[in-house]
This record gives sequence, structure tokens and C-alpha cells, in this order.
Amino acid sequence: MHKEHVYIGLGSNQGDSEEVLSQAMADIDVLENSRLLARSSLYVSSPMGPQDQPNFVNAVCLAETSLPPAELLCALQDIEQAHGRVRKADRWGPRTLDLDILLYGNQHIDTPDLTIPHYGMADREFVLVPLFEIAPSMIMPDGKPLALWVAKCNLDGLKRLPTSNQR
Ligand code: ATP
Ligand code: CA
Ligand code: CA
Repeated sequence: MHKEHVYIGLGSNQGDSEEVLSQAMADIDVLENSRLLARSSLYVSSPMGPQDQPNFVNAVCLAETSLPPAELLCALQDIEQAHGRVRKADRWGPRTLDLDILLYGNQHIDTPDLTIPHYGMADREFVLVPLFEIAPSMIMPDGKPLALWVAKCNLDGLKRLPTSNQR
């Protein structure tokens, strides 16, 4: 069965975020027709948007899957819900788990429910830095090296957690 490589961004700022992220990657590994190939370290980042909320823990993982993009999104939303995610109208508020599809093979998708590549990647250091960790030679959809995107981002609010925190 044909499988695509998919990069998924993970975030959490409610509950035991480090445990939630580790568990979510294990959940992705056992999704139907899917397998986890790589996981970044965990990073702590200052929140985007509303500042009156805890810092986030973020990571990026690489999986291979034969689930089509829309089905993968549903499966990831099921994982979010299994970890207690409550969907609210406001974006960027506190949540136990957020799973964003960053890249799905080389595909470009633009439907009401799904934009791939993820629209926010370019200016989110908490996505680019963990992505760079697991895909250092990646060429981005604009033809430029990921390394160049990383070099341009502001790393002030980002801290890699020591390995002892990586579960
Ligand atoms: P942001 O998308 O800016 O990171 P968010 O993650 O807080 O904000 P959510 O509330 O989790 O936003 O998701 C809102 C909607 O975004 C989802 O219902 C989903 O349909 C849509 N969406 C579009 N593209 C993607 C993608 N690549 N990955 C995940 N969700 C996506
Ligand atoms: Ca998000
Ligand atoms: Ca999301």
C-alpha cells in the first residue's frame, strides 16, 4: 500500500503536557496503516495569542501513513479528544493537546477543513526548530532549505527540555 511521509506538530499547555505529547506520539504510531518514524525532543515555548495562559510544550514527529489527509485529520482529532481537548471557538487558547498536519508528502491541499502545508509554519519557531531536529536537510515548499527558515526565526521564547524530561 502506498504510504506518504507526514510531519505532525504537537502542542499542549494543560495537564501533564510532557506525558500527553509522548502518549500522543505513541497513539500516532498505532493509527491504522501508520507508523511513527521519528520524534523530536520536547520544547517549551511562550504562548502565541492570549498571554494569560501557561507556556506550551511542543514537538514534531514524522510518521508514514496510507490514510488520506482528511482521514488523518479526523484520526488526529480523535486523539486530541481522547486526551481531553475541548474545542472552543477561539484559536490559540489553552488546550491539553493540539495536533497539526504540517506537511503531507509533497501535497498541497486547500479545503475548508484542511490547509497543507500548514499556513503557520513559516513564522513559528516552536514548529521549525523541532522539525529541523528530525529533518535537517529538508527543502521547504518554497524551494528554500529549512535551515534558512530556522536561521530567520526568533528563538527567544523557546527552550529545549533536557533529555531526562523526554519520556
Ligand atoms: P492554528 O491552526 O493557527 O495552529 P489551532 O491549532 O489552535 O490554530 P484548531 O482550533 O486546532 O486551531 O483548528 C481549527 C481548524 O483548523 C480545524 O478544525 C481544522 O479543520 C483546521 N485545519 C486546517 N488545516 C489544518 C492542518 N494542516 N492541520 C490541522 N488542522 C487544520
Ligand atoms: Ca495549532
Ligand atoms: Ca490545530
